[in-house]
Amino acid sequence: MKINTACVHSGNNNDDFYGALHTPIYLTSNYRLPTDGTPVDWSGINSNIYARNRNVNQTALEEKLKALEEAEDCATFASGAAALHAVFATLLKKGDHVICSQVCYSSVNILFREVLPEQLGIEVSMIDTTDAKNVGKHIKSNTRMIHIETPGNPTTGISDISEIAKLASPGNILLSVDGTFASPLYQKPLALGADLVVHSMTKYINGHGDALGGCVLGNKKLIEKIKLTAMVNFGGILSPFNAYLINRGLVTLPLRMKQHSISAHKVAVHLSALPCIRFAYYPGLDSHPQHTVAAKQMVGYSGMISFALKGDEKTNYLFLNALSLISHAVSLGDGETLIVYNEVTSEKIKYYPQEFHNGFFRLSIGLEDPDDIIEDINMALTGAGLM
Ligand code: PLP
Repeated sequence: MKINTACVHSGNNNDDFYGALHTPIYLTSNYRLPTDGTPVDWSGINSNIYARNRNVNQTALEEKLKALEEAEDCATFASGAAALHAVFATLLKKGDHVICSQVCYSSVNILFREVLPEQLGIEVSMIDTTDAKNVGKHIKSNTRMIHIETPGNPTTGISDISEIAKLASPGNILLSVDGTFASPLYQKPLALGADLVVHSMTKYINGHGDALGGCVLGNKKLIEKIKLTAMVNFGGILSPFNAYLINRGLVTLPLRMKQHSISAHKVAVHLSALPCIRFAYYPGLDSHPQHTVAAKQMVGYSGMISFALKGDEKTNYLFLNALSLISHAVSLGDGETLIVYNEVTSEKIKYYPQEFHNGFFRLSIGLEDPDDIIEDINMALTGAGLM
């Protein structure tokens, strides 16, 4: 099955009773247990006992995601953050060393900088992973995992998956890749040598801004371990309703990603040409610092742009307030174009490269007509006195 077909058909065949084409929502927390003495695997994940061990809608969604990532197995969770925590808390132990991209989603940043070292005794190196050689320099005898986010949130920095996988493989080191910005459509970390790929399904995978979810994919052994520990015992499972919504959202993933990319490219070209823009980074443009790596490992460039204005904090807020179609709101990958201002005083800004330190914007290009998005940006730049 080609990927567009898998988006439509995989995970739809669970209603043997009525024959519905789409998996119905199974809103049940528990299932009937055998009464004939057949042993029950209380903490197991291979039979329907309790919705924290396994639930029908979650299994249907996992089937679809497996097809998209060409993975042996998949585990889904209540959010992207829960999926990431499941990976780290299941596979790392006290005394292990882990390397993580210093540009990464804020809750991962806090997990790595505070929770893992202070509460779990895990040694952490937060480094620039856009330079694969730099990753090599930080590998130690107790390094057990490298976790990279590519493209990285919020700068769109690109890390070279296959080069980092080569560094990881001889040393029994797991490579985990957060591919949320690319979606399963535009980047295949497992095929490039990663052991695990993680997505916040809240973003492009669901695509409608109405459900949180997260997933992890990899080989059967790793995913089984993650399910048994994190799903059954930590309990951050995906609800049947959200699994249903995300499965439905995935049907249009290829169409949505195509439009996000076409529009983001057009907006990025427009921004780059404006004299009032300090930088505009989009992985699909030659001017992106890691465009060559992006071109090697991505099939499409998705809808995320980071940019900065020539102006001070006051100008940045004037611009933000003058936007009308584009909403100042967190998250990304929705139908609406969303912008987040990373202010100069933000705690996280020091972890990003120097040129981001004067304040910058992260723009998630939605599914509106790109000319309307450009017009809104132009109007706001005029309102801020920049055009
Ligand atoms: N990974 C990336 C790259 C993200 O951008 C986010 C959220 O923005 C997450 C993980 C966390 O996902 P969630 O908000 O679904 O917990």
